[in-house]
Amino acid sequence: MTATGAIVTLSPRDCEAVLFDLDSAYFAQRSEQHGIEIHPAAVDLVRSLRAQAIGTALLFSGSDAGAVLEAVGIAALFDVRVDRTAFKGKPATEAFLEAARQLRVEPPRAVVVADTVGEIEAGHAGWFGLVIGVDCTGQSWALREAGADAVVTSFAQIHATSEPPSAWVLVYEDFDPAREGIRESLCALGNGYFETRGAVPWARADDIHYPGTYVAGGYNRLRTDIAGRVVENEDLVNFPNWLALGFRIADEDWFDERNVRILSFRQELDLRRGLLLRSLRVEDGQGRRSTLTERRLISLADMHLGAFELTLTAENWSGSITVRSGIDGRVVNAGAKLYRKFNNRHLEPLSGEILGEDGVCLVVRTSQSKLQVAEAARTQVFKAGERVDVPRVKIEEPGYIGQAFGVELKPGETLVLEKLASLYTSRDRAISEWSLAACKAMARAGRFGEVMADHVLAWRHLWQRFDMHLKPAGHGVRLNAPMMFRLNMFHLLQAVSPNSIDLDIGVPARGWTGEAYQGHIFWDELFIFPFLNFRMPEITRSLLMYRYRRLDEARAAAKNAGFQGAMFPWQSGSDGQEETQELNLNPRSQRWVPDNTYLQRHVGSAIAYNVWQYFQVTRDIEFMQFAGAELMLEIARFWASIACFNEERGRYEIRGVMGPDEFHEGYPDAPTPGLDNNAYTNLMAVWVLRRALDVLDLLPDLRRVELMRELPLSAEETARWGDISRRMFVPFHGDGIISQFEGYETLAELDWDGYRKRYGNIQRLELILEAENDSANRYKLSKQADVLMLFYLFSAEELRELFTRLGYPFEYETIPRNVAYYDPRSSHGSTLSRVVHAWVLARSNRPRAMTYFAEALQSDLSDIQQGTTAEGVHLGAMAGTVDLMQRVTTGIEVTGDVLRLNPRLPEELERLDLRIRYRGHTLDLHLTRDALTVHGREPGIAPIRLAFKDEIHDFAGGSTRVFDLGK
Ligand code: BGC
Repeated sequence: MTATGAIVTLSPRDCEAVLFDLDSAYFAQRSEQHGIEIHPAAVDLVRSLRAQAIGTALLFSGSDAGAVLEAVGIAALFDVRVDRTAFKGKPATEAFLEAARQLRVEPPRAVVVADTVGEIEAGHAGWFGLVIGVDCTGQSWALREAGADAVVTSFAQIHATSEPPSAWVLVYEDFDPAREGIRESLCALGNGYFETRGAVPWARADDIHYPGTYVAGGYNRLRTDIAGRVVENEDLVNFPNWLALGFRIADEDWFDERNVRILSFRQELDLRRGLLLRSLRVEDGQGRRSTLTERRLISLADMHLGAFELTLTAENWSGSITVRSGIDGRVVNAGAKLYRKFNNRHLEPLSGEILGEDGVCLVVRTSQSKLQVAEAARTQVFKAGERVDVPRVKIEEPGYIGQAFGVELKPGETLVLEKLASLYTSRDRAISEWSLAACKAMARAGRFGEVMADHVLAWRHLWQRFDMHLKPAGHGVRLNAPMMFRLNMFHLLQAVSPNSIDLDIGVPARGWTGEAYQGHIFWDELFIFPFLNFRMPEITRSLLMYRYRRLDEARAAAKNAGFQGAMFPWQSGSDGQEETQELNLNPRSQRWVPDNTYLQRHVGSAIAYNVWQYFQVTRDIEFMQFAGAELMLEIARFWASIACFNEERGRYEIRGVMGPDEFHEGYPDAPTPGLDNNAYTNLMAVWVLRRALDVLDLLPDLRRVELMRELPLSAEETARWGDISRRMFVPFHGDGIISQFEGYETLAELDWDGYRKRYGNIQRLELILEAENDSANRYKLSKQADVLMLFYLFSAEELRELFTRLGYPFEYETIPRNVAYYDPRSSHGSTLSRVVHAWVLARSNRPRAMTYFAEALQSDLSDIQQGTTAEGVHLGAMAGTVDLMQRVTTGIEVTGDVLRLNPRLPEELERLDLRIRYRGHTLDLHLTRDALTVHGREPGIAPIRLAFKDEIHDFAGGSTRVFDLGK
């Protein structure tokens, strides 16, 4: 049996029975209004298990639960029923063992599905083959800790099939309105230039669907009167929906999957080819059966093109079908709950016209940023392979342009609709004018199949550079990790791809898949760039240029705040000014609460760190000379100017900031926000100052002199940098615990168990506490890794060097000690946090690290935050997990001029293959338990230095080396 994370696949080859110990309400419920209601999801699962000849058992407690299930015939679906009440006073495992015994199945060949910690523990203790937790309240962590091998948030995520799961396809086999939003984000298609959510073509925004099309970097500002003040927001704009295509049979309602009986359903995200595939068989109220299929792409080969092919087969009916297809620019930004109270109409329609026989073109402009977007779309009709010319009627409304037409179908006939759209903006280059360009591109494009062939080839090439091929070890129970990794990489490459290289875009926290965080760019690059650096550093370079172009804005921000250098914004959008909200609505208390997260000045250090890492991997001295160095020097200068010397302490300090942990905004009851001497901020500042001095040293003389004059940077100033980097204050408390900030130790301990009991999901503790008229500022708790970030970013050697330079003690033990201190004090309210915790625990507590890792890997697939994925995927966690895999297995690190590999294949893997680029070399790495083979693909290139377990070797271009891993 295999578990694919979101989709646990149970196959009769290795699973003989499934034992359900769930609240009976998952199956059916007695309600005053409707009598007994059956919930089909769990029932369908039981039926599909039976269809695979997998035995089923139901464990229930109490006669009422049993009676309800009996009454509606659900109990009869199970081969065996066990009343838990008969096992009172006995170990919880007994009931499971009894069910297995009655089914005549050995526990390792049976799967337990349960929804409480106690039952999971019992399943785990009974040595069952797989224990699946069902989580509907955000307790996936607790279930995992109790021993769940996989946690699902919907029954649709458990599949019974005889086929092994694919490592390249994300499959959904039902239509689940409650989870449609999540799927639309996960099935969004994009090419690094624009992206469209995976909504069905006939959908309009409602309580289930949210079609969204986003242009990379397409922002607009709007003002709203709220809570007594005018608030200005910059949003990633939802641009016209080019999918818009509806149809109806005869005079029925327009097709909507909610109004028909779905006989079969399959939706696949084909990661290898970058396609969204759908097929559904439906029956309408008149008994007409039809099959619908869709193939969709956003072309990676031609970044201005999106296309889909929709087929409709009449099974048992004949009649006319009316189709309307157009471009819908009446859309607003309504995709994120948090911003519903803000004005959301960003688009002004400019023109809508019909192009030739089958095309339409809509031009809109954003109200403030005046970005014009032209979309041209053509809808062609085919029957039996032949193009059909149909008379068309124009439909025109402000913001919408389309055509309607009718087609006759007979039983067995298939109607094929091909819709192809081209999107250009007023920012595009090599064009005369955007609508002209869009119309030209549409007219020139070939049929769907041709566009698809180019697109598939482009993905093939991209995967050749990016794919990480994991071969899981052994058989039996395992996660379908290869698919999950690919899904994560897929989203990264859809957000930023080779198409992005010439664009002026940053990498937003949620990709371009939804409207959460308004498409803003935070520090998440820190988690994303390592993956790109080693594969296609051209992309990183382009993304760093996004920061470089906004250096003046960051300088102005520093100056405004009374500092020097460059102070980058916590949230960045179009021009690099601070975009963090002023107020946030706490949905629990319905109060507007000031948002002080802009005080996270550490974002600048992340940028400097990213420049340095990019340079380490590429040695791109040209970039360093003309952009990187200036960024690093100006960020260093900011740190030097915000740092104040405390005479009493004889040390420098940084006051009034926030660390990555967003729960702490200030001291309890202090009149102004901000904390003093956040350890992470201070140490990162030291690191930046040190590296800035290194950068000066490595620049060619000519450029160094130019920069020193232009900035201008004096020798006294750089001498002060050196001084700060030796005398920065770092707070400690207890036995070698690095205090998150000064005074942290005086805060109260939180009653974690009490809060967990009371609220279940406590990831967003700050909202809970605020609603209780309390404040997270009062407690020793954190939203995410803060001090622990240091161990994520730096090796023990690098930290020792930093601390020793500062005159503080640092021994290796400092790391586990701090991890043990902060780990239980985090609620992981950010998906980034699990990535960091997985890494810092990797050595000291492998099982716990693996639990974090599994959670991080599934952040979006299972929507572990319960409600955020529908508003966009979490790119930082997606990239972070892939980077972790690369780091944990290969031990890859660049120090000085040496590429270090310190491989260790985790026991879950049999083999790992990946391809990296490093300083012009393309290196294929093959890692097995016995050996690491490094094969260089470029003969003739200058050699590099490669360290294997601390032994340094010269590695000639094009050569192959096999390093024995011994036993
Ligand atoms: C986290 C930040 C992160 C942001 C965007 C927040 O919840 O606290 O660290 O940058 O999300 O992903």
